[in-house]
Amino acid sequence: MEEISTTTREKASVTKAYLEQKYAIMKKEREESRMRRSVLEQKMQSLKLEEPAKESYRAELRNQELHQMRQQRKRLSIADFQSLAVVGRGAFGEVRLVRKKDSGEVFALKSMLKSSMVMKNQVGHVRAERDILAMADNECEWLVTLQYSFQDTNRLYMVMEYLPGGDLMGLLIKEDKLNEMTTRFYAAEMVMAIESVHELGYIHRDIKPDNVLLDAFGHIKLTDLGLCKKMDVASHEILPITTHTVDDSSQPINDRTRPYNRNREVAFSTVGTPDYIAPEVLLQQGYGKECDWWSMGVILFECLIGYPPFNADDPMSTCRKIVNWKHTLVFPSESLQTLSANCIDFIRRLICSADMRLDLKHIKAHPWFAGIEWKNLRTNPSPHVPPRGGSEFQDTMNKLQHLDPSDAQYKTLVKQITQNFDEFPDQGLGHLHEDASGYESLNSMQKTPTIDGEYNKFIGYTYRRKPKVRVTLTETFHEGSQA
Ligand code: ATP
Ligand code: MG
Repeated sequence: MEEISTTTREKASVTKAYLEQKYAIMKKEREESRMRRSVLEQKMQSLKLEEPAKESYRAELRNQELHQMRQQRKRLSIADFQSLAVVGRGAFGEVRLVRKKDSGEVFALKSMLKSSMVMKNQVGHVRAERDILAMADNECEWLVTLQYSFQDTNRLYMVMEYLPGGDLMGLLIKEDKLNEMTTRFYAAEMVMAIESVHELGYIHRDIKPDNVLLDAFGHIKLTDLGLCKKMDVASHEILPITTHTVDDSSQPINDRTRPYNRNREVAFSTVGTPDYIAPEVLLQQGYGKECDWWSMGVILFECLIGYPPFNADDPMSTCRKIVNWKHTLVFPSESLQTLSANCIDFIRRLICSADMRLDLKHIKAHPWFAGIEWKNLRTNPSPHVPPRGGSEFQDTMNKLQHLDPSDAQYKTLVKQITQNFDEFPDQGLGHLHEDASGYESLNSMQKTPTIDGEYNKFIGYTYRRKPKVRVTLTETFHEGSQA
């Protein structure tokens, strides 16, 4: 009997998944459409509208749905965006502030090189990121909203809502340390954010200050879900850091002789910093969602003390300190005096062995969080509203949307809303344009313009958030439609 090659099997399973997803979406769309129709009919009934008026509302709904469908089918490419500024660089690409040419809307655009992802075995990870953000839909206030994702021959793109407050790392660079009440505010929000990732069935695995973004009002949202892992049975997957030689037999190192320098360069390197990774993940002993709570504990320590507890000169020493946490987790004596006992207890119950670590229920019930209104966090004021944030930010976004980019005011406005980010040299979007062809299609799986066939794995990456279809029964429309 003829053997089916692994590649063929893989292709078949990718195609199957792609088709299943496509039909599931179509089915959902049909149901939604039916729902909209019935809601409209009910509303019209209760308003006792005359038949001609009813007909015109029905026509309006059909038109909106048609428009939505046309929008959905339009394929986006990098040529549909103008770059306004670079706000972030990462291991696989960069994040830019961009303006959609047709509508003028301003977004954050993350671009990632496929080749480096294939090389570094990150394909599944970027797929996870897109899946979660698409799935989170509008409902999740704790995750960055994904508007579109698309790809060309060499790159994957994610168009997201732009968060002007920078990230928690930026805030720590500016403030050095945060007081206990401020830290408690971010801690509570992080609990909600991590909970929502877990509720979607994923483990984040890469919770660190530069993946905690701040919105215009100073509330947090998580990004960089690239390392997210679908929760199944205990995972043993190796993270893209070289930790396989870590053991826990080394001597405890709890020296803090050198000053701690927060450094973006480390965050941008491929290896990244292991500072926030839980020991069970490093030791590949199998881990679950508890590993995200460890990372949160490390961030809280850093916010309060000014450096992460296991920081060392090189990643390998950091890994050693992490697996040796029993000896290396040391609160400086002055902090033991200034911080509340509840606060220290809370951190110690996160930075500890997985089986002893607090779970969500016990985290929320911990006395350090006494009085926190979990449901109202986002509506309560944040201790740090970013400069030019609040409602001023929305005004600026509106201006950017409607002003001509050649207007003298334009540059100033862009500077204003990117002031919470480091400055990055901008090479323009030109270098991205050269390969703005080669869209994904089912056919592209049969063609072979790929380096090693690996690119087929990006099929199904494309995504477009649906605009809301809504017919408002207003008096004016009512009158107008009858005229
Ligand atoms: P990886 O860690 O997988 O290499 P990355 O770090 O390159 O990914 P992100 O963490 O998504 O990618 O983004 C890098 C930086 O860009 C963030 O730390 C943040 O400062 C900025 N950034 C990302 N997304 C947004 C956004 N939606 N709005 C504003 N800034 C963003
Ligand atoms: Mg990041």
